[in-house]
Amino acid sequence: MLLPQPVLTTLIDLCGGAVHLPGDPGYAAGAQGLSPLAVAYPGDEAEVSELVAFAHRHGLRVAVQRTAMGCRPMSALHDAILLRTAGMSGVRVEAGLVRVQAGALWGDVVDAVGDRLVPVPDDPRLGVVGSTLEGGIGTFGRLLGLASSRVVGARVVLASGDAREADEDLLWAVRGGGPSAAVVTELVLATAEARTLSLWTAQVDPDEAVRLLRDAHPDGAGVTVRLSDGRLRADVVTFDGPGEPLSAGTVLRDLRSEHATTGPLAARFLEHLGVDDLRTLARTPAEVTVRLAGGALLGQPTGARTHTSSTYLVTSYGAPITLGVDAIALPAEVEDRLVALRRRIDPAGTFVLPV
Ligand SMILES: Cc1cc2nc3c(=O)[nH]c(=O)nc-3n(C[C@H](O)[C@H](O)[C@H](O)COP(=O)(O)OP(=O)(O)OC[C@H]3O[C@@H](n4cnc5c(N)ncnc54)[C@H](O)[C@@H]3O)c2cc1C
Repeated sequence: MLLPQPVLTTLIDLCGGAVHLPGDPGYAAGAQGLSPLAVAYPGDEAEVSELVAFAHRHGLRVAVQRTAMGCRPMSALHDAILLRTAGMSGVRVEAGLVRVQAGALWGDVVDAVGDRLVPVPDDPRLGVVGSTLEGGIGTFGRLLGLASSRVVGARVVLASGDAREADEDLLWAVRGGGPSAAVVTELVLATAEARTLSLWTAQVDPDEAVRLLRDAHPDGAGVTVRLSDGRLRADVVTFDGPGEPLSAGTVLRDLRSEHATTGPLAARFLEHLGVDDLRTLARTPAEVTVRLAGGALLGQPTGARTHTSSTYLVTSYGAPITLGVDAIALPAEVEDRLVALRRRIDPAGTFVLPV
């Protein structure tokens, strides 16, 4: 899409000049293989507002990204500005809450909150906003619930460019409804009291894996079994004091430098887990994570994404699982409410959604 020269001149002056057009040195690094009209790095909410208002005025669309890790594909961006949030990574802790700007990573938050607990996903390189919009589940899920369930407030920039606190409807959508019809500029998350946590990791066989998953107390240890390269690994987190080590040779790991896996994410529920199922999974080339649900993952507060009844949450990185489990989908009534919300607050479709 070709823009008149005066419009281009205005565009490249936005965000304090941190706007890159095709051919600029910074464009390829920012576009990360996509082909947007421009890549922009706003430094604060006011610059996000200005950029979105500019796009809206000129009939352009806006796509938002931080890490692009495992995010769902987007439609062609020839008429869109790619807004990268990396320039807004502030994290502020206050009275049991943590205020997180759009570009902060989970690692930044873990560092800032000190002894308080946050529902960090397994990979601290993930963006806080993107993963929370998708629900966000991690090692402490049974203790703290989904990241989205800890959201107590959000600031957003709407398609008009207006910046404001998210109202009740938008806050509901931010709590797990996926990328929405606004740029989230700040999330406010409730942190939790410090607890004594221990994490063991061990290689296990299918019988041991099933025993760990089945025997854990409903509100107690967090149990995650990972299957990768045909091997089963169990991570067990105990709250308030060390539990029993899994077996000789197990390793106590540093919770803050956990996990570096790659691959796209497709979450699935597994209703009835058996030893044979795990044997089957261990033979697949996929990387699969089986988490015990329960605890704070049951009975979530109101939000677009809730986990209320499943015993296990199974996540597949890559190849499909062949156990007849269904991919996670938001319930139809949640999808309908999200569509209605988007139509109401972004009728022109300014924000690019995943396809
Ligand atoms: C290696 C790996 C490990 C993973 N592990 C886990 C895990 O343990 N637990 C878990 O829950 N998930 C996990 N995921 C999935 C991850 O949560 C999603 O891929 C998530 O979308 C990543 O968010 P991001 O902010 O890093 O990525 P981004 O690409 O920046 O964002 C993802 C989506 O959110 C939207 N978005 C981002 N920022 C904003 C904003 N400010 N305003 C509006 N929309 C925005 C984007 O448009 C995009 O569609 C993993 C993914 C990978 C690749």
